Amino acid sequence: MRPVNGIHHITAISGKAQENVDFYAGVLGMRLVKKTVNQDDPGTYHLFYADAIGTPGSDLTFFPWEQLAPPLSGHGLAVEASLEVPSRSLPFWATRLQKYGVTFSKLEKRFGKDVLPLVDPHGMRVALVADETNRPFEPWTDGPIPVAHQIRGLYGARLWERDVAETTAFLEKTLGFQKLGHDEGWTRYGFRNSAGIVDLRESPSERRGRWGIGAIHHLAWRVDDEEHQLAVRAQVEKAGPNATPVIDRFWFKSVYFKEPGGVLFELATDGPGFAVDEELAALGESLVLPPFLQPHREAIAGALPNITVPRLA
Ligand code: ZN
Repeated sequence: MRPVNGIHHITAISGKAQENVDFYAGVLGMRLVKKTVNQDDPGTYHLFYADAIGTPGSDLTFFPWEQLAPPLSGHGLAVEASLEVPSRSLPFWATRLQKYGVTFSKLEKRFGKDVLPLVDPHGMRVALVADETNRPFEPWTDGPIPVAHQIRGLYGARLWERDVAETTAFLEKTLGFQKLGHDEGWTRYGFRNSAGIVDLRESPSERRGRWGIGAIHHLAWRVDDEEHQLAVRAQVEKAGPNATPVIDRFWFKSVYFKEPGGVLFELATDGPGFAVDEELAALGESLVLPPFLQPHREAIAGALPNITVPRLA
């Protein structure tokens, strides 16, 4: 069995694109490293926020589908995404969130770490986790957050499941996750040497959850390259779920499937990365389209709302 290498990215559904940029680039100070469109729905942006260079494991990405209803919370969904911050940074973050009128709750301890839960402008639950996992990280020196407090990358997600046992067997035997602990009704799975955890809670009395504005769309797990991706894809199909063929997303290659509880997962290659079609210094500044959409550039660009990256000190 070939394990995956931890978290690659998390993709979620937001409301208005400008409000999403204002929050993730302006308030949280992540760098918008790619401004592109949803390749299956090119009338919608796909916005990628990350560290300065889009290190795998640092990207939180959004489809601004502002016409959708709010999500139905329930099982088979990721219900919160978490971001890693340096271990003494939560007081800085609480002050900043207060300053910009962000909804957040008081500090919690989860699995022994301090956590600051907040709600983004479109209702998505996000947690800042004070931990230092010694992950690769490239600070964004032109961003609004001092390097000492910048978000280091994705920490993981919380998932509600109807039947935890099916999902945990799949995580362990098919994707190579390890059980890392249990705390307050949540069971944690992840990796000893790479970032990216999932905390699972069994919610059998809940209805099936449904996507909407503020919902997490999918969780993507890292694979080295296409050979590793095909090996894990074969493991997935052997375990039961149907997986898509390899889809070329141009910055990485993707395979999608649903884990047994219904949460959409992806296997994403580390390369080639975001600098393949833009200078590193100019990442995210202009609309970038994959080659197959280039002939329609004028129509696509004309239909998208203008967005600007704010500079909030
Ligand atoms: Zn994805």
